[in-house]
Amino acid sequence: MSLLANDEGSITAELQFFIDEGRKRRIDGKVAAHVNVVCQRCLEPVAIDVAAEFTLAIVWTDDQAKQLPKNLDPLIVGEELTDLAEIVEEELILSLPIVSYHEKDSCKQVTRSFGEADAAPIKEEPKDNPFKVLEQLRSDK
Ligand SMILES: [Zn+2]
Repeated sequence: MSLLANDEGSITAELQFFIDEGRKRRIDGKVAAHVNVVCQRCLEPVAIDVAAEFTLAIVWTDDQAKQLPKNLDPLIVGEELTDLAEIVEEELILSLPIVSYHEKDSCKQVTRSFGEADAAPIKEEPKDNPFKVLEQLRSDK
């Protein structure tokens, strides 16, 4: 996950595979992660917790996906076996906050701006806009 500041952290995932009463092949899951993302104020790593829940139904075609009830998200599988790690990662990426900051007392940018009044202002704009990744994910589908 390039959105993360480093590889430290932990992810727990609980996935259930079953066929529901509508004969749909389902993957229900709960994932939670403790990860380091980049603080958009000081650009240092900041630890955050993210969690996501999902209810997926496995389908093979776009038509099948459209026929799913609204409470189910389609997981369109092709010839290749779908990588479960990717599903979990995608769900977590979607649940990441758009921007993350340290608490004010632990953010370096706060102390820096007091200490170096003459320093060039640091842009608030994130270097890597997380939205870009989301757009990629969506256009792939
Ligand atoms: Zn910070």
